[in-house]
Amino acid sequence: MLSWEQSPSVALMQRERAWVEVDLAALSYNVQQILSLLSPQTALMAVVKADAYGHGAITVAQTVLQAGATWLGVATIPEGIELREAGIEAPILVLGATHTAEQIRAIAQWQLQPTLCTPKQALVFSEAVGSRASLPVHIKLDTGMSRLGTSWQQATEFVQLVQRLPNLAIASVYSHLATADDPDPTVLRQQQQHYESALHACGFNPNSTAPAHPLPHFHLANSAATLTDSSLHYDLVRTGLIIYGLYPADHLNDRVNLKPVLQVKARVTQVKTLQPGTGVSYGYKFICDRETQIAVVGIGYADGVPRNLSNKMTVLVRGQRVPQIGAITMDQIMLDVSKIPALQEGEVVTLIGQDGNEQILADDWAKLLGTISWEILCSFKHRLPRVSVGKPYRAKPPISEVHRQSRA
Ligand SMILES: *Cc1c(COP(=O)(O)O)cnc(C)c1O
Repeated sequence: MLSWEQSPSVALMQRERAWVEVDLAALSYNVQQILSLLSPQTALMAVVKADAYGHGAITVAQTVLQAGATWLGVATIPEGIELREAGIEAPILVLGATHTAEQIRAIAQWQLQPTLCTPKQALVFSEAVGSRASLPVHIKLDTGMSRLGTSWQQATEFVQLVQRLPNLAIASVYSHLATADDPDPTVLRQQQQHYESALHACGFNPNSTAPAHPLPHFHLANSAATLTDSSLHYDLVRTGLIIYGLYPADHLNDRVNLKPVLQVKARVTQVKTLQPGTGVSYGYKFICDRETQIAVVGIGYADGVPRNLSNKMTVLVRGQRVPQIGAITMDQIMLDVSKIPALQEGEVVTLIGQDGNEQILADDWAKLLGTISWEILCSFKHRLPRVSVGKPYRAKPPISEVHRQSRA
């Protein structure tokens, strides 16, 4: 059962101190927007690794599948098992490398689909799977990322080896892009060329437009490449960031309308007036230069608010931006709320999200810290309850499924 139906008392407790709000309506909306960019032959894999970029993997997976995504991508086996234990039946690709007999047993037992990065790994899998089964596997080629996968120049040997192993079935051949968010497309196009020439050398046609061509599938695109152009889509796109409503790069902002899914909120726990010259928080990194009304808020770096934002970030209070002052502490932060009249203890402030006409995005924190929005989303700790809001959208089943249902 999805958590927007939770009883009011549980929801109230979840909102006692500080929490992450996950907007399931926005999540569904983003999935629909992304699907509108794809041809009917291209499927959508929602990448839900790292607890769905901090949004909560199970709720996100259920919502995106209802909205029309058909694949899930995770980084690790435990992430895949968590989804299976929640009753999710969609195909799950494990994007990370797996090697040990124990890992292979878990993959088979939970019907996860592994990434094979090397011929050696293929032999280990074949050995461990035994002769009974036919395990779907995904071949990973390195076309220029220099991370997982066998060099595209050795693709034919790798693919032919796996084709000869009777208990492994190649479900896809894929690769990953290093610079898809760069406005300069040189490296992106070079990787695309490497990918396509490797596939052609293996006797595959990655650009077949037949609606249901036989396996394997082909996929290359992350969020940025999905927004870049449809020549990068092939059979499947693997999108993380844009599902969550953020843009991978400024020059891709106009390709599709997205709504941020995550908000971070916390309550004011005390309000007080400080005299000029009073120091605030550890190390007195802020000294009041006038009489200052401050609010103490119950959220800190142990919740995932980076301490390096001390004295740099702003927070939304009653739709207005106010400065955070002094060192961010483990569990609490202080705000200068002098311009907010009669602020009350218990009022809710927004660290990331929308309040009235003002909005603070994970991108804003990323810019202040010299990092990327992906890292900000992943940094919120489990101490913050994930609270679902908004009603998710349920896509009509595709025609083929309707037929199957009516025949059953
Ligand atoms: C994380 C990941 C993705 C998703 O990347 P986004 O930029 O968030 O869309 C896709 N493919 C692989 C292999 C990944 O590791």
